[in-house]
Amino acid sequence: MAFSAADLTILRIRCPGCGQHTEKLVTVLVRKSNIPCNVCDSPIDLNTPVNRLLIKETAQNCARIGAALLAQVAAAVPPAPPAPGLPADDRRV
Ligand SMILES: [Zn+2]
Repeated sequence: MAFSAADLTILRIRCPGCGQHTEKLVTVLVRKSNIPCNVCDSPIDLNTPVNRLLIKETAQNCARIGAALLAQVAAAVPPAPPAPGLPADDRRV
């Protein structure tokens, strides 16, 4: 199962044109070089040093959170029950 918290994490990018924030999923942001502003529709450059760093660090944090969550889930899952169809020896009472 491939799970990343980046699929669920929203990052707010500030539009240099109107100053409003546009929210996008981190998984979307890491694949794009710019996004349209939700408010004024002008392109927001994601390749500025500030935005690159913000997206990269958030994606890395998401990867760590995802790994930690998966480890917790794996630890909480009980051992699998015995497969059905095996000889039921304990019926001889
Ligand atoms: Zn804008």
